[in-house]
Amino acid sequence: MTRRVSIFGATGSIGQNTIDLIARDPDAYDVVALTGAANIAQLAADAIRLRADVAVTADETRLDALRDALAGSGVAAAAGQTALTEAGCRPADWVMSAIVGAAGLAPGLCALEQGATLALANKESLVCAGQLILSTAQAHNARLLPVDSEHSAVFQALVGEDMDAVERIVITASGGAFRDWPLEKLAQATLDQASSHPNWDMGQRITIDSASMFNKALELIETREYFGVRPDQIEVLVHPESMIHALVGFRDGALMAHVGPPDMRHAIGYALHWPDRRALPVERLDLAQIGALTFRAPDEVRWPALRLAREVMERRGLAGAVFNAAKETALDGFIAGQIGFLRMAEIVEEVLDSIDPSHIDAPMTLDNVAHADQMARQAARRVIEQ
Ligand code: NAD
Ligand code: MG
Repeated sequence: MTRRVSIFGATGSIGQNTIDLIARDPDAYDVVALTGAANIAQLAADAIRLRADVAVTADETRLDALRDALAGSGVAAAAGQTALTEAGCRPADWVMSAIVGAAGLAPGLCALEQGATLALANKESLVCAGQLILSTAQAHNARLLPVDSEHSAVFQALVGEDMDAVERIVITASGGAFRDWPLEKLAQATLDQASSHPNWDMGQRITIDSASMFNKALELIETREYFGVRPDQIEVLVHPESMIHALVGFRDGALMAHVGPPDMRHAIGYALHWPDRRALPVERLDLAQIGALTFRAPDEVRWPALRLAREVMERRGLAGAVFNAAKETALDGFIAGQIGFLRMAEIVEEVLDSIDPSHIDAPMTLDNVAHADQMARQAARRVIEQ
């Protein structure tokens, strides 16, 4: 039986890895929608190759270019936010949510509303609106599967286990590009330096977020929302080799670790074939050759993002939406060369401290999430432009 699949963020790093897996077995899948933004050539080529029903670009100014690239192929073209959300509403069995940033929230919710299994790489959705995503999935009997490597690892370590027996969840962090830099050098870190990761090949934004630990900060919140554990049950462990992705500690003292090569096709493939475990084209680790795995405690002075994430987990409500939006805006500022590397965390902290609490305490509806997001972006831009 063929499965109807859609890929949001198809032109990105996760999207391309997902296509790699799907293209190996084309008869097994019916591709419904592929979405992208600026890279029209890639989007169109994949949509034609995979015979998608529709290709959607988030950027309305590129609709004509997309139409031209798809001319005569039978693949429909669409553009803009509404079209993106509509792509999420097209009936599908399995949907990869791999847009970067809060923009992934609305299409993901639509996919859940029509009962699709949502493979969630877009961690920002859970950070911004965890309770809304989970309640939407529950209301529509839709399955949510984690694709972040750490969360997939935890999910796999929990198979057959009782959540009551879980004492703690440990997510690992490589430490990113600046793990071993002297602290006084960090303020001068350049965009190029922050954009290269020691172990993982990922999109630019998440790579910079790994250097600042904002990625791990988002993942702490993601862990709390997805697995429903208390913040004090979640730990971050710096593990420079990125072979152990997460560990689950149980009440009998056992720690179940998930070990694998740093290749996102593992987590994507697990979510694609779940509940089966099928063969995947990832490297097999030779532990004797690797020899040693090392660990260290995270340094909250070097990485203030981790402390901020703990605050957000305690405040809950729409604090995650504010945190993420301030982070995205600060990251834009760093990429544009307007602020230095260390300013990002300072800006996020200033926004969290100064935002009117009514934005955080409002009920979690999509409108209120969008409003909190906008207020936080405006506040962050004001700080950047000061
Ligand atoms: P990427 O930058 O490589 O790709 C992002 C995708 O989103 C592209 O298809 C782009 O066209 C699209 N996009 C960008 N802005 C958009 C907008 N405003 N509206 C609609 N679409 C937009 O990013 P990535 O590294 O593939 O990451 C995607 C998501 O997966 C992120 O949430 C990231 O945190 C998460 N993730 C990535 C990895 C990884 O290894 N790359 C690992 C774990 C989690
Ligand atoms: Mg991760």
